[in-house]
Amino acid sequence: MITIDDFNFEDKKALIRVDFNVPLDADFKVTDATRIEAAKPTIIKILEDGGSVILMSHMGRPKGEANADLSLNHIVDIVSDVIGVEVKFVKDCVGEVAESAVANLQSGEVLLLENLRFHAGETKGDTALAEQLSKLGDVYVNDAFGTAHRAHASTTIVAQFFPENKCFGYLLAKEIESIGKVMRSGEKPVLAILGGAKVSSKITIIENILDKVDHLIIGGGMTYTFVKANGGQVGDSICEDDKMELALSILKQAKEKGVEIHIPVDVVAADDFSNDAQTKILDSDKIPDGWQGLDAGPETLKMFKEVILKSKTILWNGPIGVFEMENFANGTKALGNYIDEATQNGAFSLVGGGDSVAAVKQFGFQDKVSYVSTGGGAMLESLEGKTLPGIAAIIG
Ligand code: AMP
Repeated sequence: MITIDDFNFEDKKALIRVDFNVPLDADFKVTDATRIEAAKPTIIKILEDGGSVILMSHMGRPKGEANADLSLNHIVDIVSDVIGVEVKFVKDCVGEVAESAVANLQSGEVLLLENLRFHAGETKGDTALAEQLSKLGDVYVNDAFGTAHRAHASTTIVAQFFPENKCFGYLLAKEIESIGKVMRSGEKPVLAILGGAKVSSKITIIENILDKVDHLIIGGGMTYTFVKANGGQVGDSICEDDKMELALSILKQAKEKGVEIHIPVDVVAADDFSNDAQTKILDSDKIPDGWQGLDAGPETLKMFKEVILKSKTILWNGPIGVFEMENFANGTKALGNYIDEATQNGAFSLVGGGDSVAAVKQFGFQDKVSYVSTGGGAMLESLEGKTLPGIAAIIG
């Protein structure tokens, strides 16, 4: 994998695609700078080499038109604070103003371009826009995993104008390496834990992952489609009746491939989808009408703990209960603790995709697992086995 470590940036201008699509409050202050902090090591390495840095990113969905609310000038100060260098800003990402700002940029300096999506060509993957962007750097660096699944001008198309001078930044390289550890080279036994609400949104992942793992834990709302397909009674639990055949086919494929599937045997059931509901522990296949399963039960957690502690590679995607409500967060928290213990015992653990990162952050597990992926959709597509265009554009 070709990374910024393969280049010496002395007197070079690095055009870096970062993901600075950070949340802003009503006063346009950044409320979570994680994504900016994540890009820091790449920026620092280039500056320390004696190069200069041109940062490009999108923010929000301005739909191809300038929109003051989504201007990247709101983040200039915080980017300066995070990297410790006063960042310059230019009010367009291409054209004369951008080109002259780049021409005046000295080694050790950092320039932030205006929101890429103020140009409609960005999300369309327009070659002319990509060519204009390519004039702004000597080396193209992609460090934006969150948009690597999009064939946009700045994430993919621009790479063709840097046939010899393109590479991954540290953040993207780490994402690729971590996902590779699970999907290709993970130490056995390999375990995937898939939770979340629906089978329909996870089906491609489940089918792809059956070839890679030894154990698969299915939890969360998906449980009930599997339980009902097996003849169980799930009451008012979330269930996709039209996916029951698919669930049976997954169970069959798993058997053929020698994958052990673990599905909750008991659940915390509630008489309403509410934190104030009455609750009781029920077998997952004996839930009467008027009750719904909202978290994993104690026997299930014992079973999951045993599987997690014997695994050497663990992928976790999706909460196993309605963790947003305190009374149904116990299962997801417990799962995080078991993964923490397994990680301390030497397992490699990767968390990512969709809501998992929110759950991990809410319970403070981000420092306890081996790696938390920053790219929701990009991570999901990687797990589905797709080659992400932003990655292919660098490798190809
Ligand atoms: P996803 O984005 O597919 O990972 O789904 C995450 C959502 O699944 C979270 O908002 C959880 O509240 C929800 N979820 C987890 N378990 C259940 C359940 N038993 N019933 C309903 N929703 C659930």
